[in-house]
Amino acid sequence: MATAAILAREPWRQGLRVAGLSHRFGFRRVVDHVDLAVPPGEIHCLVGPSGCGKTTILRLIAGLEILQEGEIAIDGKVVAKPGFAVPPERRRVGLMFQDFALFPHLRVEENVAFGLAHRPRGEREARVKELLRRVDMERHAKAYPHTLSGGEQQRVALARALAPAPDLMLLDEAFSALDTTLRAQVREETIAILKETGTPTLLVTHDAEEAIRVGDRIHAMERGRIVQSGTPAELYLRPEDLFVAGFFGPVNRFSGTVRDGFVVTPVGRIAAPGHASGAAVEIVVRPEGVELVRPRPPAPVRALVLERRDLGPVHLVLLRMPDGAVVKVRRDRPLDIAPGEEVEVVLDPAHVFVYPSHGTG
Ligand code: ATP
Repeated sequence: MATAAILAREPWRQGLRVAGLSHRFGFRRVVDHVDLAVPPGEIHCLVGPSGCGKTTILRLIAGLEILQEGEIAIDGKVVAKPGFAVPPERRRVGLMFQDFALFPHLRVEENVAFGLAHRPRGEREARVKELLRRVDMERHAKAYPHTLSGGEQQRVALARALAPAPDLMLLDEAFSALDTTLRAQVREETIAILKETGTPTLLVTHDAEEAIRVGDRIHAMERGRIVQSGTPAELYLRPEDLFVAGFFGPVNRFSGTVRDGFVVTPVGRIAAPGHASGAAVEIVVRPEGVELVRPRPPAPVRALVLERRDLGPVHLVLLRMPDGAVVKVRRDRPLDIAPGEEVEVVLDPAHVFVYPSHGTG
């Protein structure tokens, strides 16, 4: 109860709203008409290839970059529009970046108290104590950052970011410096606190699993634009472009040309509705969409099993198609096949996607 009382605050009315945000460095537009809203209590993930503008968006929201075009509002108050900027320290935004840089000359408790200078001493001390307890770092209150492990420093950074009860949290690859086990643990703790406090959060990550695990919604970006927004399931089931289709894990990719509504690929003929005859297309076939059956003559496509790996919950197979293409297969049940055998490939259309090849990476 004490935690709830200390961390509680007025309910958020509006969260984050970004409208028509564009940004150039020199002549290059790195953010292109981005609209985005993170309601209170939700965690949204911004994902996309390196250099697509994710960090720039976070920096604009935090006020670390001067806004050129568009508008940013936090909790219903405009904090930036052309010619107007609330200074970063008055935006009530908590930041956690990969290089979270605690102040090296300040003890842990002083780091956490940093954003609370204006609070009465008693209240400040109670809040620091409570936050350190919440991130399980109370016993390190007097320590200096360099004496702490990476995970411990990250937890202190979280406590510091949360201490002033921010109206918005921005996390940029905040967990990537940690090893896998610690990463999952610190991430889960962080998300639990953000959910508990209802803090709207925008998180930038390269890591698909991270986005799927923590994101209420994912915004997929490419070349400065948001190309698709939705729940993780929506993006998985209906990826609107190549990047999104490949975001959830390794895929099989082919190129081809549409003839009369179909495109011929190494794994068979694939329907390409909506694509004109003669159009060049890129095809994505997810490994989980390739089923293997015993060949029944005349099998339309026979494949040679190259390799089979049973990894517990998943079973991976590599196939070589008649034209030499190597195809990844992923099933959730063990398969009764062995390397050297021939199989027939059947595709599940739910895991097959066709995109126009122009402008794709
Ligand atoms: P990553 O995932 O690699 O961190 P990102 O999607 O966060 O990438 P940004 O850091 O927003 O990408 O950068 C977008 C583009 O803008 C990049 O091409 C980058 O080189 C360029 N850029 C970023 N900051 C500046 C700057 N201060 N001056 C000039 N160009 C910049």
